[in-house]
Amino acid sequence: MVVLEQKRFEEIEEMTKGYNRLLVLGCETCAAISFAGGQRQVAEIASAIRIARKRSGREGEVLEDTIARQCDPEFVDLIADRVAGSDAVLSLACGAGVQLLAERFSDKVILPGCNTMSLGVTEALGVWSEKCMACGDCILWRTGGICPVTRCPKGLLNGPCGGASEGKCEVLKDQPCAWQEIYHALKRLNMLHYLKQKAQVKDWRIHPGRVVREDLRGGGRDDF
Ligand code: SF4
Ligand code: SF4
Repeated sequence: MVVLEQKRFEEIEEMTKGYNRLLVLGCETCAAISFAGGQRQVAEIASAIRIARKRSGREGEVLEDTIARQCDPEFVDLIADRVAGSDAVLSLACGAGVQLLAERFSDKVILPGCNTMSLGVTEALGVWSEKCMACGDCILWRTGGICPVTRCPKGLLNGPCGGASEGKCEVLKDQPCAWQEIYHALKRLNMLHYLKQKAQVKDWRIHPGRVVREDLRGGGRDDF
């Protein structure tokens, strides 16, 4: 999932105060799971903006809506009329969602209500940890399912660096050394031979800015 964090209210207030008719738009996927931009957070932020406006004697209407995914034109286009009827949109989606709105509704001001933090997993309620940096050339198959690009602060592909102490990383001292974890995982899986091989040079060039799946093209989505 994309992990999001809502911006400080002061920043949201500052960026939205110039727009009389403001649409607060949530996203029911990662933003909702992050407790940053689902229906409930839309209601909370919209209400806080209304109160702030009332207190400062400012006019304006704050509208609310939430769609299934702000990163997909199929859903974004469903709210075209609501966007058209507002002066600006405060999007509570990730950076991808905000940018798709800005592309689809290029005559509208689209404001980001959240900070996009990482690609991660839920550890516990309110705790997420980064697991992937979307490098485009996944090597988890030879690292025991542990990503050194993300979890080793030096991004070493041929670790360990030798600086770990008592299993902890020398850079992030409260975290386990990713390469020590890789060693233990490979040992457990009887795959230690991968560590004996020369580190494969990673092809950073193939990081895809745009992914095209030819097998899905022509399925009625070409008009996107
Ligand atoms: S190797 Fe690349 S794609 Fe695979 S988990 Fe790590 S950053 Fe993500
Ligand atoms: S101690 Fe381990 S995780 Fe930390 S930088 Fe060195 S190899 Fe990477």
